[in-house]
Amino acid sequence: MSTTHSLPAGSPPASTGRVLLIGASRGLGLALAREWAQDGRQVVATVRGSGRTPLHDLADSRAGQIEIETVDITEPAQIAALHDRLADRMFDLLFVNAGVTNQPEGTVAETSTDEFVRVMVTNALSPLRVVEALQDRVEPDGTIAVMSSGQGSVANNERGGHEVYRGSKAALNTFMRSYAARHDGERRSLVLMAPGWVQTDMGGAGAHLTIDESIPNVVKTLDALRESPGLHYVDYLGRTVAW
Ligand code: NAP
Repeated sequence: MSTTHSLPAGSPPASTGRVLLIGASRGLGLALAREWAQDGRQVVATVRGSGRTPLHDLADSRAGQIEIETVDITEPAQIAALHDRLADRMFDLLFVNAGVTNQPEGTVAETSTDEFVRVMVTNALSPLRVVEALQDRVEPDGTIAVMSSGQGSVANNERGGHEVYRGSKAALNTFMRSYAARHDGERRSLVLMAPGWVQTDMGGAGAHLTIDESIPNVVKTLDALRESPGLHYVDYLGRTVAW
């Protein structure tokens, strides 16, 4: 579906200037908000709940550049309400970052049904609900991107482990392929992003990459894929990931 994309030099294209970022309270989402704000882009970034988060501190230091919205992506009514609040806004990029993991040990069959449902609903079903609900807020030549994972690759799963998380990201990838097939011929760039294994609450301190090694490259890769219609499953360096 896509080939390797080289990283562009220079300033961001003007047409990626308005970003809607879902799930930015901490971790990779917070770092994306910071990176895009430093690039001079206008960011609407979401948290869930009413508590103060590190995103609020970032927004205070970037007055006028970061607006904070709220949505829990597992609550369809909250997605619909967010859509209504953004009814007069258009974006060049929608990026759905929110996701969860679970206990990495154990087989899928050993996982409780509640835990399986929690991870699958959050990582596979809910991002697609967000994409479907908010796609009309994205310019026809804009980008819709979702945070996937290298662990979503079926082809590269030769060691197992993290079974439910892997399954949820593989399901996410498949749902985005179905979305892409339904939107074949449209101009939007669709992206499934694998950010690498990164040091966050989810990735843990032993992860291979720091946030600064991943996120600036995620941003460059998204810029390189601008106006590239169709679905691209790529890593943070723009390398195609095997499905
Ligand atoms: P993290 O530090 O655990 O942050 C997860 C983010 O998702 C938080 O902002 C969290 O909000 C939000 N979130 C979770 N459930 C949500 C929901 N139902 N509605 C709205 N927001 C929700 O994880 P991370 O490492 O930054 O990961 C971000 C994304 O990258 C995830 O999709 C993850 O699967 C993916 N990823 C991470 C790695 C890695 O190595 N870190 C590798 C591959 C892919 P709260 O603060 O409210 O919980």
